[in-house]
Amino acid sequence: MKYDALIIGGGAAGMQCALVLGSAKNKEFATGKTVGIIKHQKASHLHSALLNNVFGIAPGTTGKEVLELANEQLTSLYPHVDCIEKEKVLEVSGTPGEFIVRTNKNSYQAALVVVALGYTNNFDIEGLNQYLEPHAMANPSKERVQLRNNNHLVEKGIYVAGTLAGWRSQVAIAAGSGAQVATDILTLWNNGEHTKVHDKV
Ligand SMILES: Cc1cc2nc3c(=O)[nH]c(=O)nc-3n(C[C@H](O)[C@H](O)[C@H](O)COP(=O)(O)OP(=O)(O)OC[C@H]3O[C@@H](n4cnc5c(N)ncnc54)[C@H](O)[C@@H]3O)c2cc1C
Repeated sequence: MKYDALIIGGGAAGMQCALVLGSAKNKEFATGKTVGIIKHQKASHLHSALLNNVFGIAPGTTGKEVLELANEQLTSLYPHVDCIEKEKVLEVSGTPGEFIVRTNKNSYQAALVVVALGYTNNFDIEGLNQYLEPHAMANPSKERVQLRNNNHLVEKGIYVAGTLAGWRSQVAIAAGSGAQVATDILTLWNNGEHTKVHDKV
């Protein structure tokens, strides 16, 4: 199976990116597009977060609960998005349109890759390490990292989203970044014509 878009990382940015891409299923330009997410979630910062300040989320909700809800939302509303569970990404190689994402268990082909792996300094993905740089908007003493990018684009076909894109660590920002990347991909699939996905009451 070759994915048209494969998201790696199932935290705030990756899950939001998957939800927006999944929601485009009825758009003509997205018909037949295959989307996957490597949803290893063990290391998401959401696991230790208590969320009182996030728009639309009831105060007192834990990040863990939000992840569980998002998993349910993705699989029930957009089951065509392939969820690859509990695999750790080790390497991204290849060229635009023909990337190979290697995990500890499998290898996947993808035309586009979205990297949403968080900003911790233990980042070590062969093929992406050359884009690493110190995080520009975090306390230097924490040694956070980001991937060099221009408006989320690392290089042709490789996007970065969330804190790893250089954004500050707030759920709303990380999720917004994931949504932005999703609409960039949808716009690309729509031959460059700007697009978004809105459901109406
Ligand atoms: C203690 C704490 C409290 C917080 N409280 C708040 C708060 O009150 N309000 C707020 O707005 N924000 C809060 N945050 C911040 C919020 O959790 C982050 O901003 C948000 O989770 C960042 O999203 P992200 O997608 O960039 O990274 P993450 O959510 O960390 O997601 C990264 C994902 O990548 C996966 N991953 C990593 N390496 C690999 C690999 N090799 N292969 C596959 N997958 C991999 C991880 O498992 C994870 O699923 C808090 C964070 C912490 C730590």
